[in-house]
Amino acid sequence: MKCCLLAFDIGGTKISAAILEWPTETVQTLTFQKLERVYSPPDADAKSDLRTILGLSHTILTTHKPLAIGVSFGGPVDWTTNTVRLSHHIPGWEDIHLGDILEAELGVPVSVDNDANVAALGEYRFGAAKGSSSMMYITISTGVGGGFVLDNKIWHGADGMAGEIGHMVVDPSGPLCLCGKKGCVERMASGPYMAEDARRTLELDSRQGLIIRKIISGHLDKINGQVISQASSQGDELATELMFRSAWALGVGIGNVVNLVNPQLIVLGGGVTKSGQNWWRIIRETARQVALPQISVQIVPAALGDDSPLWGALALAETAISS
Ligand SMILES: [Zn+2]
Repeated sequence: MKCCLLAFDIGGTKISAAILEWPTETVQTLTFQKLERVYSPPDADAKSDLRTILGLSHTILTTHKPLAIGVSFGGPVDWTTNTVRLSHHIPGWEDIHLGDILEAELGVPVSVDNDANVAALGEYRFGAAKGSSSMMYITISTGVGGGFVLDNKIWHGADGMAGEIGHMVVDPSGPLCLCGKKGCVERMASGPYMAEDARRTLELDSRQGLIIRKIISGHLDKINGQVISQASSQGDELATELMFRSAWALGVGIGNVVNLVNPQLIVLGGGVTKSGQNWWRIIRETARQVALPQISVQIVPAALGDDSPLWGALALAETAISS
């Protein structure tokens, strides 16, 4: 049997498992030796998720023997004990010792971390930030999250909360965020919030957002981040204003981050990053304006797409072997 690293990416709607042969120095093309994905049923809970995870570990390991396991979890994690604190999407995940469970089942070291940190590690080890000394990864989709890799290691912060750029305030007089503050990056830049703001404006003013209305055939409940992005590219004024605000908020956030931490690279991933060149241009220009002139600001797209957490989980497994 060949040796491998085993990775899991546990999200709110699906669970993926992948293996990569060990040693990884031979990785030339970015392809897993094996990949399996299982979509969670609507009534999924931690117990059913755990059954899926253990089931996947057996189906994917028929020809390979794992040396270590890395896990990316979509929610807060105590990385020092490999314990899941909770999931915002799936009930029952409160204080589950996922590392212990997998270690007992498969008898190899396990490392568990949250998805933003793991995705950062994936881009650092295998993707857009490969070869850099320090980087921040930011995902912009239904929420905005981030993670740092500094000097070869995930930087967790004292409470494991480092990288929460989504709740950095960039406009104190801005709209109210779910976290209770006003004008957070996530409140202005994420897909669902852009959709919510568009919907409210369309309800109040029938002359606004004509292209948005056309795309959704008048069904206001169908507005989402993708619709806003599409309407903006077709010249809709309201959608363009919302996209500008999204990019501006992120640009201010990134400018502040580079002033504080001065990472070599900022890598952006997630659905909203597919919003076109204009969105990217505004982010880069705004970040440049906010950053001190001595600081170089390099903002690049993620190279591993939706698989950055899986690649990162493989990199976590790799560190679990050597630690
Ligand atoms: Zn917030």
